[in-house]
Amino acid sequence: MKFSICNLGCKVNAYESESVASLLEHKGWQRVPFEEEADAALIFTCAVTNTAASKSRKMMHRIRRNYPDAIVAMVGCYAQIDDGMLEDAQIVVGSSHKKSLPDYLDEYLENRKPIRVLDDLRDTPFETLSADGFDSRARAYLKIQDGCNQFCTYCVIPYVRGRERSMAPDLAVKEAKRIAKDYREIVLTGIHTGRYGREHGVSLSELIERILDETPELARIRISSIEITEIDDKLIELMKSSGRIARHLHIPLQAGSDEILSAMGRPYSTQEYYDKIEHIRDELGDVSISCDLITGFPGESDELFDKGMEFVRKCRFSFLHVFPYSPRANTPAAVMKNQIDPRVKKARTNTAMRISSELADEYRSQWTGRIAYVITEETEDGYTKGYTSEYIPVKISGELPHGILAKVRLDRCADQVMYGEVIENETD
Ligand code: SF4
Repeated sequence: MKFSICNLGCKVNAYESESVASLLEHKGWQRVPFEEEADAALIFTCAVTNTAASKSRKMMHRIRRNYPDAIVAMVGCYAQIDDGMLEDAQIVVGSSHKKSLPDYLDEYLENRKPIRVLDDLRDTPFETLSADGFDSRARAYLKIQDGCNQFCTYCVIPYVRGRERSMAPDLAVKEAKRIAKDYREIVLTGIHTGRYGREHGVSLSELIERILDETPELARIRISSIEITEIDDKLIELMKSSGRIARHLHIPLQAGSDEILSAMGRPYSTQEYYDKIEHIRDELGDVSISCDLITGFPGESDELFDKGMEFVRKCRFSFLHVFPYSPRANTPAAVMKNQIDPRVKKARTNTAMRISSELADEYRSQWTGRIAYVITEETEDGYTKGYTSEYIPVKISGELPHGILAKVRLDRCADQVMYGEVIENETD
């Protein structure tokens, strides 16, 4: 039997889809590219924006149109919304029981009855999934946390992912050891990663410390993203003392004015955010700090937008992930007054992205002539691609083996990529 998988969401979704793929392959299913005909097509959906939700539906209809006999399984966040738009799917599994997808496929093959598994997610335990591989990448994700209790006014995630919950620390360390046999870098990921371990009485920094101690062969641990309120002194101390924690913190900001931050229900002010990142820089020097930013949130006047861009420049981010505000049904912000005209939203998104590339250029050009450590990925046109600890994309002259740690002198920056020469690498 053949299956295909399409992941439409975040790193957590990517981890879950790879884990389910591993389970199916262990059961003898053969994986084929998503475009190809398969007996079953699994679509790991996303609900974070209207665009993501409609893209999930489009993928379902595309499979239905191209391969009418294929079983379509819609999985994850958008499936969990259950808005009645997934009638074309034989199997719908929300944000729990993903591990049982191989069984649901068997069950459907047996009795051809539609399957709907949509828990209310109030007391859902952490679902431990284990991925075997992340094909082309030199880094592997490890999902250690799920759910969110914060309920920012624009966000649908707490409604579709449920309450915060974490992988047991012993299991997380065991998984990290298993992954470290094949990968040089692990990206710890979750929906609200900084809230890791509350129910286990263990913090994220304590887990990282254990993984560092128990996986000496691992070159690098990276945190996918972490809220400003959850970066504790222990984490900063660990980043200072260990060269094996990526010197990059992706810290969602979302807005650059207190008026909009409070309308979003974000738990910090611009001053608190700024003071914290300056403290991090005092301790860690030119660490890379990037952020998420939403443009066009209800009530965002031209003045507030300009004020926000001024704040973003003041923070000297290494890059921004910019998202135009997308009203999500059943979230408080969707019914707020002063919704912003889509054309204005688009213009502001373009402005913010332009500022992002200016800031990225500024940050990356600081590295010209300096030494960095790059984990190598694929080769292209005589170069080997990879990322530094600061998450700077690099092209190294020559073709190096995949997945090794290379010491590189960074010579120049072009089109937001650093070019460099290898000084030494692990195979030398
Ligand atoms: S912290 Fe806020 S933005 Fe992030 S997942 Fe939770 S509710 Fe959504």
